Amino acid sequence: MLDLTMTIAGKPEVCKETFPVLNPANGQVIGHAPECTSDLLDAAVTNAHEAREPWLADPSARSSVLLDIAARLESNLEEFAALITDEQGKPLHEAKDELGGAVGDLRYYAGLSLPLDTVSDTDDLIVQVLRQPMGSVAAITPWNFPLGTAMSKLAPALAAGCTVVLKPSPYTPLSSLRFGELVRDALPPGVLNVVSGNDSLGSLMTSHPLVRMISFTGSVATGKKIAATAAADLKRVLLELGGNDPAIVLDDADVDAVADGVFANAFANCGQICVAIKRVYAPRALYGQLVDALADRARAARLGDGRAPGTDIGPLCNLAQRDRIEELVTDALGSGVRVVAGGSLTDGSGYFYEPTVLAGLKGDERIVVEEQFGPALPVIQYSDVEQAIAQANDSHYGLGASVWTADPERGRTLAPRVESGTVWVNTHQSGIPGQPFGGLKWSGIGVEGGSWGMLAYTELQAIHTNRMDQRTVSAQIGR
Ligand code: NAD
Repeated sequence: MLDLTMTIAGKPEVCKETFPVLNPANGQVIGHAPECTSDLLDAAVTNAHEAREPWLADPSARSSVLLDIAARLESNLEEFAALITDEQGKPLHEAKDELGGAVGDLRYYAGLSLPLDTVSDTDDLIVQVLRQPMGSVAAITPWNFPLGTAMSKLAPALAAGCTVVLKPSPYTPLSSLRFGELVRDALPPGVLNVVSGNDSLGSLMTSHPLVRMISFTGSVATGKKIAATAAADLKRVLLELGGNDPAIVLDDADVDAVADGVFANAFANCGQICVAIKRVYAPRALYGQLVDALADRARAARLGDGRAPGTDIGPLCNLAQRDRIEELVTDALGSGVRVVAGGSLTDGSGYFYEPTVLAGLKGDERIVVEEQFGPALPVIQYSDVEQAIAQANDSHYGLGASVWTADPERGRTLAPRVESGTVWVNTHQSGIPGQPFGGLKWSGIGVEGGSWGMLAYTELQAIHTNRMDQRTVSAQIGR
């Protein structure tokens, strides 16, 4: 049983109140997390605020700290992978991939520095544009990639010279609390604080007067509430919200290759990925074949405890999410929609739901229009590609999308017509360190990733210096 501490001003903090954290594979309590009080939150934010100036003053120290943190996380990768699997449910190999990405983010941002642009540089005048860090940042994360998402915020924020108060999801707080314990003595006190609590703690963070920026990843509904709260104080926001990614399969595609790619990118992490493929548009000529090929892969996938060797797909992270998938599948059935594979809860404890493929959809069912965020994939038939693009774009979401074709150039030509922050051709979800990632429409505001991801934690400052002799200046203005 894990009883972990929060990190505030570089010290451990516990609270009288705690809340239980469950293993979604069996519903058992695996640990407790402190329920942060408003006084302790205030201490965390105040310390982050006060730690800003010395942290900003030394970019090379920031870089060394990020490298140190990366090394500590990497040396403890097995422990953290097991913890993520236990609190979140994903198979151990996926937890290790998540941590590999987190370590990569820390190292990538350790190597970046803030740009200094010179707009004019003459004998009389120099105008330069600096990037100033926002200050103290409230970083609020969801439950699907507990440490991956935390590092995608901490790494660029700390590299840019900001200080951070991190609040993980109440479903998956343990890995972030443990991370705070691991790196506590690597940072100056107050630079990184880790607190835990329920949604109301998030609200307290976003309305705290000393928080200058909110970096949030989570649902659209919460993102809108945060934007409204932030507006009252004109706090800056970075919002990475939900997605309903379409995969558009073109009529020249190789069905087996597409089925492999689409299945992997729809069902990884049990479908609980913002940029998972969440709806597939297939041409009439390939529709039946593609549905069958996806269903074969769904039936072959091994569902189980993420700790068990050979598990392909774990449980959903929490009961509410499993109930939502069941509700959306049930809602879609009955009007010509059929379950081709899966479609049921599994027996026993744990929040399992069979990998499910649905066919015969018109495209207006809730499971197509809403973000399902789980292991149920609707496949919709189209008759011409213009119709497929129109249906893909007919959404409030705009996070990711993909085009699947034997002709990558044809895909690349179509890609800009799809309204999403990233469009992949013959893949989905892939990224390299220098690539930005963010959503259009309801999927978010701002980007993470690459140099843009660090600039997101800064504001422009222009320094305009008149180099002329002061008497010459007076003469010019007529005195
Ligand atoms: P959520 O919005 O319910 O919760 C996310 C976090 O916000 C949690 O820490 C929660 O405690 C906190 N929170 C809740 N209410 C709050 C409030 N009023 N003020 C401040 N904080 C509050 O989301 P979730 O269910 O944990 O995560 C799933 C969602 O996250 C999905 O929609 C998914 O697509 C999205 N997501 C997006 C990305 C991305 O990069 N775009 C990545 C991962 C997940």
